[in-house]
Amino acid sequence: MKIICIARNYSDHATEMGAPRFERGSQEALSPAFFLKPDSAILLKHQPFIYPNFSHQVEHEVEVVVRIDKDGKNIDERLAHEYYSSVALGIDFTARDMQREAKAKGLPWTLSKGFDGSAALSDFIPLAELGDDIQNLSFSLSRNGTVLQRGNTSDMLCSVDRMISYISDFISLRSGDIIYTGTPSGVGPVAVGDTLEGTLQDRNILGVTVHD
Ligand code: MG
Repeated sequence: MKIICIARNYSDHATEMGAPRFERGSQEALSPAFFLKPDSAILLKHQPFIYPNFSHQVEHEVEVVVRIDKDGKNIDERLAHEYYSSVALGIDFTARDMQREAKAKGLPWTLSKGFDGSAALSDFIPLAELGDDIQNLSFSLSRNGTVLQRGNTSDMLCSVDRMISYISDFISLRSGDIIYTGTPSGVGPVAVGDTLEGTLQDRNILGVTVHD
């Protein structure tokens, strides 16, 4: 399976990262930047996140995750909704210091984004149980009981159906692939001893503890 991650899909997060702003419907929004993590990055429920020794600035990015249900290529945006039926909540853990260095050198984000445990993932929930509208899901992340990130998928710059269509023009999607759909503002560092908890439509479905 593949883990595909969309970059800069919420304008408030793009702003906090100092990235250029663009509008919904713009060419940049319709053809979003994305990157891959290896499947070894998956951190399942109840597994602790082990703080990597190669970074001093690991940050949380809470994201709604979509699981692809059937194989597809060159998927029409209007039919993309047939390719998923459940969603989860995930954390795209990012070694921000390494990412900053990679950006400065024009190098790929593989190490800063793809290390072991960097893709925390809750159980998947049928979309039908969550209101059946993938573009109207509220989600949040708290660190040690304080909510730091709040988002709603209605604020995405690129919709889920559009990203599935766009990605599948280049890379075939297979059943079981998952897509991290971008993070809202409020990303920040995690530390050993932290507890991170995530909600999706007010359901507390993600809990990660940080260990050394
Ligand atoms: Mg992200």
